Amino acid sequence: MRKPLIIDCHGHYTTAPKALEEWRNRQIANLNTPELGPKVSELKISDDELRDSIETNQLRLMKERGSDLTIFSPRASFMAHHVGNFETSATWAAICNELCYRVSQLFPDNFIGAAMLPQSPGVDPGTSIAELERCVREYGMVGINLNPDPSGGHWTAPPLSDRSWYPIYEKMVEYGIPAMIHVSTSCNPCFHTTGSHYLNADTTAFMQCLTSDLFKDFPTLKFLIPHGGGAVPYHWGRFRGLAQEMKKPLLSEHLLDNIFFDTCVYHQPGIDLLTKVIPTKNVLFASEMIGAVRGIDPETGHYYDDTKRYVEAANISIEDRFQIFEGNARHVYPRLDAALTRKGL
Ligand SMILES: [Zn+2]
Repeated sequence: MRKPLIIDCHGHYTTAPKALEEWRNRQIANLNTPELGPKVSELKISDDELRDSIETNQLRLMKERGSDLTIFSPRASFMAHHVGNFETSATWAAICNELCYRVSQLFPDNFIGAAMLPQSPGVDPGTSIAELERCVREYGMVGINLNPDPSGGHWTAPPLSDRSWYPIYEKMVEYGIPAMIHVSTSCNPCFHTTGSHYLNADTTAFMQCLTSDLFKDFPTLKFLIPHGGGAVPYHWGRFRGLAQEMKKPLLSEHLLDNIFFDTCVYHQPGIDLLTKVIPTKNVLFASEMIGAVRGIDPETGHYYDDTKRYVEAANISIEDRFQIFEGNARHVYPRLDAALTRKGL
């Protein structure tokens, strides 16, 4: 069996040049006076600056750790869909997506884009479709990040099974792109952004799917639930039991053709549990590097987010490891598969 390509399906542009953050701060400062700027044209980031921000960070670590290709999306905590209105988010999403596209053009062998959407609390999700189409058609992006809670921790949006989300799902099915279900920063002090809000949202999204018949309406729709699925694998028995009480089909039939989990779990016992409980076909390699947890684990001497080590040490077969590193990503992201095939990979 050939060596797998190591495809990391979860990376964000957390290291973008400072000018991006400065532009965003000006946008936020002028929410009520947009005529005072900033204009999109005032943001100037050169290719050299982009190259430098990647070569010294993500690409350096990818080479050190031995991963080949990252599905690369805008910084999740900076999406901040709760800020301003739809226009605010539309401008911000367009800027952030374009930067990820430029990175994918500068490093075509190592990065391929996934889009953030210009979501805004209380706004019809269908308004995000124009940006989604642009990112797929013009930028060759292979997936989207879908925020189930654009309010930033107050959960004012209807569940993912609600029909108001359907226009996005129809477009996803048409284009053959999956959504990573990914919240942004928490503006509710009860929820720490990466420590609780992210994991809560992963668990919540799974349960919204479990209690609904969403995938009867969209049999080919694919959701990737990040951060190892939140609490889901650990509590798999609870979820199976709840589904049974609700007279739902077995989870393997009800959800596992449509829901996938990544390996952003930052210790060996977590990956061991994930790969033991969840079928191999539903697990995709990812690190979310450089992201939420940037330190070195004193127990191992390695970075917490060096998740490739855990997958390599897990008690699974060579075939399973191939699926987790490469095969499953090509299945869940058909446009990625097509792009790799065009390159002879
Ligand atoms: Zn993320």
